[in-house]
Amino acid sequence: MKVDVISPYGYCAGVISALNKAKKAKAIHPDADIYLLGMLVHNEETVEELSKLGLKVIDEKKVDLLEALRGIEEGSYVIFSAHGHPKAYEEIARERKIKTIDSTCVFVKENEEAALSDLSKGKKVIYLGSKGHLETTGFLANVKAASFFDVKAKTLEKRKPLGETTDPIVYSQTTLSLDEVNMALDILKGRYPNLTLGRLRCHSTTLRQNAILSLPNEVEAVIVLGSKTSNNSVKLFELAKRRNKPAFLCLNKEEVRKLDLKRFSYVALASGASTSRENFFAVKEYLESL
Ligand code: SF4
Repeated sequence: MKVDVISPYGYCAGVISALNKAKKAKAIHPDADIYLLGMLVHNEETVEELSKLGLKVIDEKKVDLLEALRGIEEGSYVIFSAHGHPKAYEEIARERKIKTIDSTCVFVKENEEAALSDLSKGKKVIYLGSKGHLETTGFLANVKAASFFDVKAKTLEKRKPLGETTDPIVYSQTTLSLDEVNMALDILKGRYPNLTLGRLRCHSTTLRQNAILSLPNEVEAVIVLGSKTSNNSVKLFELAKRRNKPAFLCLNKEEVRKLDLKRFSYVALASGASTSRENFFAVKEYLESL
């Protein structure tokens, strides 16, 4: 089978940095209780690997992170995820004498800082995001004066009045899909014709999505490696389906092996930002052996 490799592949820079910080913390403090507040990366296999190292993972989909933070024992360590967090969490940790390690991705931080800077100059800001995602929760908590456009509900929540503004600056969650951003901009431009764009999707997300959109027509199917809990992997899968050819979202080689791929001779292999290179190359090798 011929396999087109979609670049970039493997973990993104933000995930690599977060994983290194978590592993280093455990190596330096082997006997300490170290909690990952929110899924450090949205990938079940990677999280299992971290759990085996003795790191305690707190899943934001199962428990309220603020409550979980308040329940952590004094003297423990907490690692904030690559997706960001409300700054108020840092104050709570300080009061409770919990040590913190911040693994927030630089792109997430830069989005918040740029939006705060625009607001300080009297500009209005609208943030596009997926309600409940860690990054969106963090941004809205830290940039309180931003209005929020929920890409799932397709509605603008005016947390702060936009008044007679016609030229707000639009920011977005780094892992949204091109389709989601375009849909939101189409709606918003009807109301705010002079809007301008601030920082939107991150480099890693944009390159992977663009590569899928520019695949040659001869590619018969696209396999996206990533977790169903990973926003950017799901977005790659949705874009791949837009080609009107088969597309699959699989966590690993075991799941790919269950697919009926005999009918294809030319496929493309993509991966979300929370999929390891080892996983990627194991699947590539398997596909090429078919
Ligand atoms: S997907 Fe982008 S913003 Fe998110 S951690 Fe990776 S590089 Fe950072």
